[in-house]
Amino acid sequence: MMRAYVALGSNLGDSNQHLLEAIEALAALPDTEMVGRSHIYRTPPWGKLDQPDFLNAVVALETLLEPHDLLDALLNIERTAGRERNGERWGPRTLDLDLLHVAGKTVNSARLTLPHPHLAERAFVLLPLHDVAPELDIPGQGRVAELLRAVDTQGCTLFA
Ligand code: ADP
Ligand code: MG
Repeated sequence: MMRAYVALGSNLGDSNQHLLEAIEALAALPDTEMVGRSHIYRTPPWGKLDQPDFLNAVVALETLLEPHDLLDALLNIERTAGRERNGERWGPRTLDLDLLHVAGKTVNSARLTLPHPHLAERAFVLLPLHDVAPELDIPGQGRVAELLRAVDTQGCTLFA
């Protein structure tokens, strides 16, 4: 079994519902158990500012799926939520699922980078990740609690 951390985000449609359905779908993945779940946070948009606030969460999984298979499963769940990729980077989305970290795995393929390279910059990832794994050490980036202390969480509020 491998411990994996998945970030969830949504700012289109019924975002709370998109996150709850995605959490159910992740818990139902084959050979996978959900072992942790963060609060849901409301966070300001990032990168591209003229779009609605996001809801964000993180879950922890114990899984037998290999990282690339897990990524395929995440992209499938995104499609089920009606995610459309129109080429616009950082634009509004019904559901975004990012694989943050898989314990013991470093991956640098065309489709997948692990640990997620932008994890340390993003309050909307670090706040919920801190709920489930404050002591986690992200190789090359640092301990989650320390990474969180270094980012600006202004505008991020507890949603649920
Ligand atoms: P972003 O999440 O940066 O807003 P997308 O959700 O559109 O962008 O993801 C684009 C691509 O990023 C995915 O198709 C996937 O192949 C790739 N990718 C690379 N590393 C990861 C990762 N750790 N988690 C999720 N997707 C990743
Ligand atoms: Mg993504």
